Amino acid sequence: MSLNRQKGNMYEWVTHTWNPIGGRCPHQCAYCYMLGLPVGELRLRPKFLRDDNLSGKTIFVGSSTDMWAEDVPDEWIERVLYCCNQFPESTFLFQSKNPLRFVHFLGFGFPPKTVLGTTIESNRDYDISEAPTIWHRVNPMIAIEGHRKMVSIEPVLDFDPEQLVEYIKRIGPEFVSIGADSKGHRLPEPSAEKVRSLIDELDVFTEVKLKSNLARLGIDLDEFEKQAVDFDSVA
Ligand code: SF4
Repeated sequence: MSLNRQKGNMYEWVTHTWNPIGGRCPHQCAYCYMLGLPVGELRLRPKFLRDDNLSGKTIFVGSSTDMWAEDVPDEWIERVLYCCNQFPESTFLFQSKNPLRFVHFLGFGFPPKTVLGTTIESNRDYDISEAPTIWHRVNPMIAIEGHRKMVSIEPVLDFDPEQLVEYIKRIGPEFVSIGADSKGHRLPEPSAEKVRSLIDELDVFTEVKLKSNLARLGIDLDEFEKQAVDFDSVA
């Protein structure tokens, strides 16, 4: 079955993940949970596009590879979007480290309940990935209008508070999800104090969702009285 019920540590507000484009992600982030798995070459899975059970769900499309990476042919993305558009009542999350590609596809048309997201682990560029630089993620996200937007700061890496908050403010996301590296990749991580103050600053202008893996950095979720928020309730 191509549609997977969401399990594990991804997003509690997503009900399913769906990967009609699969295989080796060109971005090769050092912390990616897919790294080293025998996923094969990047490819479209036409069989997935015949799914008729995408209705009434909140689906993260492309959770196992960045289907918006430059190496992915336009035609594959068009076919996926065409399929998603057959289910206008479902919420689709598209998340990419190459959101410039979202901009190129605005004219093609996303489903009405689309959420467009990007990951910015920090305002700083660390040498941990082949993905576009942080600014090349932030800038297209700022330009996008007319769609719900989200930002993932996961795994959160050490950052400059003023600039990171400014970037996120300019993107104008409906919510920000913050999480930590789950697998001990020896990344440059911020102090708990810094993360606490980031949460407080973001809370002023957007919804902040915290992931339980922040506990490893010393962040107690109860401290912020945050709970899993139903996705539709933040619309
Ligand atoms: S962009 Fe996402 S899927 Fe691709 S390597 Fe990085 S973490 Fe993995």
